[in-house]
Amino acid sequence: MPIDLASLRRTRGIDLSVWPPRYDPAYLPAADAEHWAPELECATPADRDAIVLDKLRRQVRWAWERSPLYRRRWEAAGVSPDTLRTLADLARFPVVHKADLRAAQAAHPPFGDYVCVDRSEIARIHGTSGTTGRPTAFAVGRDDWGRIGEAHARIMWGAGLRPDDTILICSFFSLYLGSWGVLRGGERLGATMFPFGAGVPGQTLMAVQWAADVRPTAFYGTPSYALHCAETARREGLNPGALGFRTMFFSGEPGAGIPATKRLIEATFGATCIDMGSMAEMTPWMTNGECRHRTGMHLWQDIVYTEVCDAETFRPVPYGAEGTPVYTHLERTSQPMIRLVSGDRTRWTDEACPCGRTYPRLPLGLFGRLDDMIIVRGENLYPSAIEDTLRAIAGFGGEFRVIVSRREAMDELLVRAEYAATHADAAAQAALGATMRERLRARLGIHPVVELVPEGTLERTEFKARRVVDDRDLYRSLTDGPR
Ligand SMILES: [Zn+2]
Repeated sequence: MPIDLASLRRTRGIDLSVWPPRYDPAYLPAADAEHWAPELECATPADRDAIVLDKLRRQVRWAWERSPLYRRRWEAAGVSPDTLRTLADLARFPVVHKADLRAAQAAHPPFGDYVCVDRSEIARIHGTSGTTGRPTAFAVGRDDWGRIGEAHARIMWGAGLRPDDTILICSFFSLYLGSWGVLRGGERLGATMFPFGAGVPGQTLMAVQWAADVRPTAFYGTPSYALHCAETARREGLNPGALGFRTMFFSGEPGAGIPATKRLIEATFGATCIDMGSMAEMTPWMTNGECRHRTGMHLWQDIVYTEVCDAETFRPVPYGAEGTPVYTHLERTSQPMIRLVSGDRTRWTDEACPCGRTYPRLPLGLFGRLDDMIIVRGENLYPSAIEDTLRAIAGFGGEFRVIVSRREAMDELLVRAEYAATHADAAAQAALGATMRERLRARLGIHPVVELVPEGTLERTEFKARRVVDDRDLYRSLTDGPR
């Protein structure tokens, strides 16, 4: 039965008869309701797809009429709003890579020839840090920012957050959109927001002390940083499990979807660990977001439409298969992304979730990036698999590094791992090293060299961890000679 739009407007304050849709900013579900908008979240996929297609066609026409970048690329590919008759037709539209956005912004500064609103309508400017090249500027329209708040509030509700929560945000308040997206969503939800930030010397200790005083019930940051906060709390004689967090939700790294890391965070804090996050360009980035049952991130398809695609053809792969997400906005007027390639690796499924939502899911989250996959002796390895293996071993000290090098023309995988203070004597370390070597070999298919260092030796991060060092390029440049 098609979704009743009149009823949706009346009961949920969501008006899909216009595009972009209108949302009643005063709507809230009953506190004990599982869903924000069950008509959309639990619809049969076919009924929901009818809504998605309608929004998509209007989104594509909006970009076609306003963005030279999309018009040029679509005309070259022989597609247009008129060729978009079914959802499957979207796969014929060319994909966009992040490099295309950087090039467009270099040619048409500052926002590129894909900004589709007047400069006066831009409410917020954010961007990437630019550590790996030219930064990308994000221009967010005023109305878009309101809809982003609606989307995030709805997804945070699904994660179990409620108006009586106090949410501690422990991530940068700067160009980084993650923190601001949480703040906006939490305010729309009616929660008490504590935008604490991160990155100032001494701030981790302050975060722990404030948490102990203020007693927030929820935490947002990166998984690495949450574990760093736990170590800091213990050094202060505080039990992280007694800080009172009920819900901890994360983006920025895959950790919250890595089973052993998830279990560790839940055991450490006594909280549910929720994995979230697509890409900053795709804000509302929470549309990859777990529900409170934690069965892997749902794809909230009626807000951002996601196809998991083959990494070369960019055609969708069947449920059960692996690919890379390709994201499309459905209600973004300022800088719409239509088929943006993420470069992450994932597997999707349409199997049911106990929450009743019928969205597809990513049961293992985003388990790596195409560009951080390392190939060692012909085996494809993801750092997340190494993390999952180590965190499941008692005696692991909490941090590790992966160093890939080449000796005598053979790749070598060195895993430098910390041992816990409980494993300080030589016999315990020998046994721990052997366990790590054996489990890593079983998981990865190659023999790593394991080097143990004391807990606390390796640097902790306040943001996204960088744990892989690939020395082979250095080796190649030393041995290949001049080119
Ligand atoms: Zn669910």
